[in-house]
Amino acid sequence: MNYYSLNKQAPNTSFKNAVIKGLAPDKGLYFPERIDALPHSFFENIDALSHTDIAFEAIKQFTSPEISEAVLRTIIEETLSFDFPVVNINKHISTLELFHGPTMAFKDVGARFMARCLGYFNSDNSNEVTVLVATSGDTGGAVANGFLGVKGVNVVILYPSGKVSNIQEKQLTTLGQNITALEVDGVFDDCQDMVKRAFLDDDLTSKMQLTSANSINVARWLPQLFYFMFAYKQLHNTYDNLVFSIPSGNFGNICAGMMAQQLGLPIKHFIASNNSNNVVTEYLKTGSYHPKPSVQTISNAMDVGNPSNFIRIQEIYNNDFEVLKSNLSSFSFDDNQTKAAISELYNTYNYIADPHGAVGYLGCKSYLKQHPNAHCVFLETAHPTKFLDIVEDVIKDKVELPEQIQSVMNKNKVATSITHYDDLKSFLLQRS
Ligand SMILES: *Cc1c(COP(=O)(O)O)cnc(C)c1O
Repeated sequence: MNYYSLNKQAPNTSFKNAVIKGLAPDKGLYFPERIDALPHSFFENIDALSHTDIAFEAIKQFTSPEISEAVLRTIIEETLSFDFPVVNINKHISTLELFHGPTMAFKDVGARFMARCLGYFNSDNSNEVTVLVATSGDTGGAVANGFLGVKGVNVVILYPSGKVSNIQEKQLTTLGQNITALEVDGVFDDCQDMVKRAFLDDDLTSKMQLTSANSINVARWLPQLFYFMFAYKQLHNTYDNLVFSIPSGNFGNICAGMMAQQLGLPIKHFIASNNSNNVVTEYLKTGSYHPKPSVQTISNAMDVGNPSNFIRIQEIYNNDFEVLKSNLSSFSFDDNQTKAAISELYNTYNYIADPHGAVGYLGCKSYLKQHPNAHCVFLETAHPTKFLDIVEDVIKDKVELPEQIQSVMNKNKVATSITHYDDLKSFLLQRS
């Protein structure tokens, strides 16, 4: 499969090149040239397919021919070495738990898949890369863990000082080896801006191959479409009219869900559930799109003022506002509503949600008010212990620390503080 740049000013390129480069030379995001729907039989027989089978069939058109079928199967098997259970909340709402991976964040899947693709492309040592990634919380840990020890890949993670949780910070600052953490005096958007600037800086790109591991990278973004298929497999015999509520920040996850729908997965509707960073909620209401500086919330992985993948969503729906609106609703909730939802889920349904999942739950409730016949699945994108202070404070109870989390808590943080783009630049140049 070849990919084109959404800015339309760069040549089309292969999967391999799109993964290694991250962003096209004209600063556009890459998008597949074609999306071929899967045969009906695939969805009819989905009960008989393993997660690996499903993922393999769903993604192979996007990764061939550079990744052979045998290699792809191995990459997928290694990527999906944990579970994706659906938990029933009530008659109309279920949750798909995406936090059973090594860093307990849904981003584990994309990070592990991408790391293995890059590792494969560098197997003859010809493609050494520096992965530069901005994180508002969970990306950093998932990328650090997914890429740890991958030969020929150096990972540099930028995170906003004081704006990620203690556990998240530990996960991205304690691994060592090929992973370095830069603590930025600023907000997530500052981190993301620095990363984008580095990619366009000839002084850097002439000396090193930089790539991203944010969901702008196709190898991070596309594997997320698996989730929707796994949920469908578990629910389609019980419910019709499946809708998904996705707690959204950069809109990569929801956009991957829309790719699953393009592949033929019978999804009725998408709900972009947002915290107070409500650019898309406002857009669907007013028809005008106004990125804003991000505001800090308790669901900090969604504190994004200018969601990078929204342009891909517009491409999927041919930039047709009406078509987009018929497939996508969006609601925005503030921190008090989010806390009330965590409390309601715990007290009424005995379910402990993290703040992101709680926003997804609220999105389901708002949508179901107008569409009582739907069954809504909200994605639970992080384990509640990753937001321990907030969750324990709201439910007035203790949450047990899973083993994956316990093991990083006693390690020492190692991070370099930076303030300006020039700090990042000199840091990278020193190491080149
Ligand atoms: C990254 C993240 C999100 C947002 O996902 P996007 O693909 O950026 O929309 C939601 N919840 C958690 C816990 C995350 O880490």
